[in-house]
Amino acid sequence: MREKIRIFIVATVLVSMIAVFSNITSAENPPLGKQSSHKAETDNTLSDGNKRFVQNKNMKYDFPKEREELSKGQHPSTIIVTCSDSRVAPEYIFDQGLGSLFVVRVAGNVIDDVALGSIEYAAEHLHAKNLFILGHSSCGAVTAALSGKTESPYINAILELIEPSVMRVKSQKVNKNEVLDETIKDNVIEQIQRAMKSKIVKELFEKKELTISGGVYSLKTGKVEVVFNLDKLD
Ligand SMILES: [Zn+2]
Repeated sequence: MREKIRIFIVATVLVSMIAVFSNITSAENPPLGKQSSHKAETDNTLSDGNKRFVQNKNMKYDFPKEREELSKGQHPSTIIVTCSDSRVAPEYIFDQGLGSLFVVRVAGNVIDDVALGSIEYAAEHLHAKNLFILGHSSCGAVTAALSGKTESPYINAILELIEPSVMRVKSQKVNKNEVLDETIKDNVIEQIQRAMKSKIVKELFEKKELTISGGVYSLKTGKVEVVFNLDKLD
């Protein structure tokens, strides 16, 4: 399945740059989090939110009002899996208020069984419509995995989940300066494949009730570059 997905990614990478965020804004998918308490209600998409963040034009949120509304329940429309890195804060990056993003954060944005359980919960019980895996530039976890050094058993548990990407990129003739960036991108794809181990995720995806895509965040520019958008399994 990996090869099929990878071929598909190459074929669709350009389309995905446009498609993934427009999927999120399509009529089938409600605006992120029904953010009625926002001052501006027109642009609630991740892409527009990221643009605002890049331009330092994040919206002003009425948190007391949001808390009041959300105390009745949550309906996040997007599940974000991202790194624990203190510089990668999804609500800021996508300029979203409370209740929009169901965030799973772990170093290296890896998906282990616990993370996958969280994803299943948000997709099945909270009916989140999108799953977005977000890697980032200069990721320490990916750098550590590339170094090949042995760490504590718990850190190694993270690095082992990145190892398949390390092996793949090292087996290719990648320019030395691009190895880290390529591994970061590959790791985003690797984690999507781990998410697809879940029968629940797979079925929701096949029923078109869950979109699956991924990107890489630039620590310097603040921009999220979409690296793939999974449309189908084969
Ligand atoms: Zn990281």
